[in-house]
Amino acid sequence: MPIERLTDIVIAQIAAGEVVERPASVVKELMENALDAGATTITVEAVQGGRRLIRVSDDGSGIPAQEVELAFARHATSKLRSADDLVRLFTLGFRGEALSSIASISRVTMLTRQRDEAMGTEIRLEGGALVRHQPAGVPAGTVIGVEDLFFNTPARLKFLKKETTEKRMIGALLTRYAMAYPGVRFIYNQDGREAFRSSGSGQLADVVVRAFGLESFQQLVEVASEEPPRDDTPAIQVSGYTSTPDLARGDRTQITLFVNGRWVQDSSLTYAVIQAYHTLLPNNRYPVTVLMVEIAPEEVDVNVHPTKAEVRFRQPDAVFQAVQRAVREAIVAAAQRPGERRFRTYEHDSRAVSMQTPRWNSHIQHDLGLSTNDVAPATDPIAVQDDHFDADTRVPHGPEGPRKPRTLPPLRVVGQVGAMYIVAEGPAGMYLIDQHAAHTRIHYEALREAIAGEGVESQAAYNSSPIDLTQPDADTIEQHRDLLQRCGLILEPFGPATVVARQVPTIMADRQTELRPLIRALAADLGEPGDAFEAALMCIASHAAVRAGQILNNEQMQAIVRRLERCQQPHDDPAGRATLIHLSGDQLAREFGRT
Ligand code: ADP
Ligand code: MG
Repeated sequence: MPIERLTDIVIAQIAAGEVVERPASVVKELMENALDAGATTITVEAVQGGRRLIRVSDDGSGIPAQEVELAFARHATSKLRSADDLVRLFTLGFRGEALSSIASISRVTMLTRQRDEAMGTEIRLEGGALVRHQPAGVPAGTVIGVEDLFFNTPARLKFLKKETTEKRMIGALLTRYAMAYPGVRFIYNQDGREAFRSSGSGQLADVVVRAFGLESFQQLVEVASEEPPRDDTPAIQVSGYTSTPDLARGDRTQITLFVNGRWVQDSSLTYAVIQAYHTLLPNNRYPVTVLMVEIAPEEVDVNVHPTKAEVRFRQPDAVFQAVQRAVREAIVAAAQRPGERRFRTYEHDSRAVSMQTPRWNSHIQHDLGLSTNDVAPATDPIAVQDDHFDADTRVPHGPEGPRKPRTLPPLRVVGQVGAMYIVAEGPAGMYLIDQHAAHTRIHYEALREAIAGEGVESQAAYNSSPIDLTQPDADTIEQHRDLLQRCGLILEPFGPATVVARQVPTIMADRQTELRPLIRALAADLGEPGDAFEAALMCIASHAAVRAGQILNNEQMQAIVRRLERCQQPHDDPAGRATLIHLSGDQLAREFGRT
């Protein structure tokens, strides 16, 4: 085929693939438009799981007659004028892509009237082509009907799930938006029957009762926490509801997070919620949670992906901690309320420990700062071994000590401090281990060893959304593609200055939300003069590592300590920072005046 420019309709259809995955995506975009238009009542109708028809009606601002056609053009928006506006965005939309995308793959009819205009407009597009545009006497606000979604893109039709699945997704979406906007009345009609309605009273509790039912509601506790701004961290407000450990689910889909009114799918924040239940839920059980995170708009980048479901925080650790703390505090407070039922605690993952009221209390009281290891010291086999430990492998005391063996003796994990350090004990005293630095060291040595041997183990990336880079960064990545491939990271160009990850090192498997920051960091580091290979390994090791601020369970701490013991250079991370502080028995004795 000779080269030709694609027509606007084809361009819109291709772009639609990014915005509109399924009927629920259409509902989401149209509800967001209604919310942006200041609606107080939003009615959603869906027929056959949204395949036949999706209709969203609102009593918002409406669209001025002379702008209606333009609203369906690509990149046409009333919400943003320059890229600078992105940092102070208060609307849900800004890309100007939804209406054009939806119209290109369905038959759309819109009735709209701006409040102070006498006459409204009716417009109809089929497969992106205008078929009708005329004045119409309609109520103020907007009604948009989307029929026969994907009628002209049969390949996408095939990817739809069963009708019941699509219905459930639309229902879930609606209840969640109703919770994020309790001041707006949401009504959902499914195949002609009312399936959900919120009152618009402004009370979140009202909506939560309707969404989950009264019985479940009684097992939810309110989350309300406000982190004041500190030197370098912004103010972060976290509110919503989270379940007591009695109400748990088998998967994490009932953890819902909104950031500044935007529903986000952020696996790291979801993890923060799960971690807040550390020892209160068995491993494979998850809470029911709805949280609203409020943070200054300039602290969040919402322009990460066309569906806007991904966001990036300027200070992800601060947000992670704020969420974790808020949830933890809420369940702790609930447990301490007089007359309240006590919850069980769980140790060693899924093994339930019988009701132990005192332990749950004492456990929780010092848990916010310090999560202790509940295992009695004597049961730890390592503690027993300590006595017989060969003095030769002891850690040298200070620079004058014997330099030869720099490996670590077996250590017994005592607990975690400040969600950042692991406290451990060995034959030669106490060790305070920086969890992130230590884990980085572990990954770094493992990567080096793998490269020298069978190669780095990698697996298909599940998060293959395109990653936008600056042109110089994209060039740097392209230039080092082979090197990165040897490190287990297979990147492919995806349009100008954009890449997608195809394979990731297996050590990143659980941390794929870190992929985007990793690739950006790689581009920056590889752009600097120096040993590119070394830089890449350090960068991957650090991004695959647990971060500071992450609460670790006993097993995770054990795993890190065990592997650090086996490292060639356990005392510092690849960049030369200390991984641990060692206080010898003598030093401790001196500090306490025992000598
Ligand atoms: P975006 O929301 O990113 O601006 P859309 O394609 O979703 O892009 O919508 C294009 C424009 O159409 C919006 O900027 C807005 O001005 C107008 N619009 C869409 N839906 C509505 C609505 N329900 N009420 C009022 N205006 C709307
Ligand atoms: Mg929009």
